[in-house]
Amino acid sequence: MAGLLSAGLRGYLKALGAVVRGVYRAADMASHLQLNNGAQMPVLGLGTWKSPPGQVTEAVKIAIDVGYRHIDCAQVYQNEKEVGVALQEKLKEQVVKRQDLFIVSKLWCTFHDKSMVKGACQKTLSDLQLDYLDLYLIHWPTGFKPGPDYFPLDASGNVIPSDTDFVDTWTAMEQLVDEGLVKTIGVSNFNHLQIERILNKPGLKYKPAVNQIECHPYLTGEKLIQYCHSKGIVVTAYSPLGSPDRPWAKPEDPSILEDPRIKAIADKYNKTTAQVLIRFPIQRNLVVIPKSVTPARIAENFNVFDFELSSEDMATLLSYNRNWRVCALVSCANHKDYPFHAEF
Ligand code: NDP
Repeated sequence: MAGLLSAGLRGYLKALGAVVRGVYRAADMASHLQLNNGAQMPVLGLGTWKSPPGQVTEAVKIAIDVGYRHIDCAQVYQNEKEVGVALQEKLKEQVVKRQDLFIVSKLWCTFHDKSMVKGACQKTLSDLQLDYLDLYLIHWPTGFKPGPDYFPLDASGNVIPSDTDFVDTWTAMEQLVDEGLVKTIGVSNFNHLQIERILNKPGLKYKPAVNQIECHPYLTGEKLIQYCHSKGIVVTAYSPLGSPDRPWAKPEDPSILEDPRIKAIADKYNKTTAQVLIRFPIQRNLVVIPKSVTPARIAENFNVFDFELSSEDMATLLSYNRNWRVCALVSCANHKDYPFHAEF
């Protein structure tokens, strides 16, 4: 990839990065959200699910050059080593200091047993070449049978659950904070009843700082977001562009990026549809983590701090909700902790 990227394009991206960082600094109030441990979380991060190992190192390096400081990772994405190479290089080049980066990773479902949580976190730390994470999330509330398969399936194609309870997993997550492996902890894909169970855990030491959930104009999640905000939990919106590269995409599925109504809104601001889809959650006080391995798009997606969607356009985008999910985790629909049977 490095060879393919011409010096000219690299220069252009660096210059664009300087301009964007200037605007980003000017709009600093809107560029971070405070977590319940006092840390500042950048509202825009780079997603890395499906980013091929052969391309993600360059993508993360370009993202950091352009001004991204928040990278969203997970063990199950099977590319943390390659993300780590990029982080290490940018730290060595002194483009960024460790304390200016905000690195997120996630505990996969096969490691929910209390005895496995620390080992999984240490594996991620070693792959990312870091001594701490800024945020570690329970990736899904559903525990799976431990073993070499990330998705252990029975003969009928259903996932094989573990006998763990995510409330116990949370206790092991709390220990990671006390041992200094992670600055703070949170959850992902939890419904409000599941968060409530954690908040009601006897002897709770740390509340979840973040719930990372799917969120875009076709899945606006108002009730869950309102619930999280009422508890001081920051919400991160994943698949903000509708995840067009999801492996199970069907031609007849709706395409948010190609929605002519959203394109018309974008045209009014001289912005792209992707930029509107990224600005939309930021104005809802959410964090957003678009994924790209394409240099020009990585820069484009960061260039969202110089315009503001009107309240009418915000309301219009919210009205496109159709409860359509990219990540429905259908193979887990029978799991006792499947999150999407509850209303929110
Ligand atoms: P996104 O909605 O971010 O869409 C990514 C796709 O959009 C890629 O195909 C990318 O192509 C394309 N794209 C990116 N920018 C543009 C642009 N400006 N114009 C046109 N197309 C563009 O999907 P994800 O599902 O990847 O979600 C984002 C991140 O959220 C993930 O990568 C992951 O980090 C996180 N996530 C977390 C989940 C969880 O369970 N907690 C579940 C799902 C996602 P290309 O890369 O080729 O440029």
